[in-house]
Amino acid sequence: MVTFNNISLLSDIVELFYPRICAGCSTPLGTGEETLCLSCLYNLHRTHFHNNRNNPLEQIFWGRVNVKYATALCFYHKESTLQKIIMKLKYHGEKEIGYALGKELGAELLGTEFETIDLLLPIPLHPKRLKKRGYNQAEIIANGIAAFLNKPVDTTSVRRVVATQTQTRKNRFDRWLNVENIFEVTQPQLLSGKHLLIIDDIITTGATIESLITTLNELENITCSIACIGMADNR
Ligand SMILES: [Zn+2]
Repeated sequence: MVTFNNISLLSDIVELFYPRICAGCSTPLGTGEETLCLSCLYNLHRTHFHNNRNNPLEQIFWGRVNVKYATALCFYHKESTLQKIIMKLKYHGEKEIGYALGKELGAELLGTEFETIDLLLPIPLHPKRLKKRGYNQAEIIANGIAAFLNKPVDTTSVRRVVATQTQTRKNRFDRWLNVENIFEVTQPQLLSGKHLLIIDDIITTGATIESLITTLNELENITCSIACIGMADNR
């Protein structure tokens, strides 16, 4: 006798009419593919910085603030698939992209020094922007990484007190001026003595993270590392 798994049959029928498509290239996703197809994942321009000390992302912070380890999943180019999907993540409500990219990075961090961190600290959004967007994309990325590193994600100990303007049209000096003292630590007791992994989506000049680390350094015995999805190579 032939039997059907009704739920699987139903999901097959739903997919026939509403196929799940890749956020990068819009082709239908295959079995086992989530959010991004294997081809788009394969074609990401990965940095593998977590296997290289003194890598270009760490060098951005030399002479500015102490950073123990820094890595990016990918290089971030204009007109790339990564740029397209980061836009969808930040401006079109497709938050599952953040989780998918976070998981990619988390998987790569297993077995590296990044496993020695104590907790993940997504860069906070200003409450006004958080309300408008509905979620903090850095927090979604952090959740994806944490699924592999198995460390807590802290979303309450630091808050953003100044809303900065969008930075895309500013030069480096303006950006630096624009991000002074924009964060406030609200629960120092949860962070003191810890090795924090600061999470961001794209790092361009590093000015926002520099500002955060400067604020965190007022606490006792803090170590900061950085993980992001993309490092812009058109700074
Ligand atoms: Zn694709």
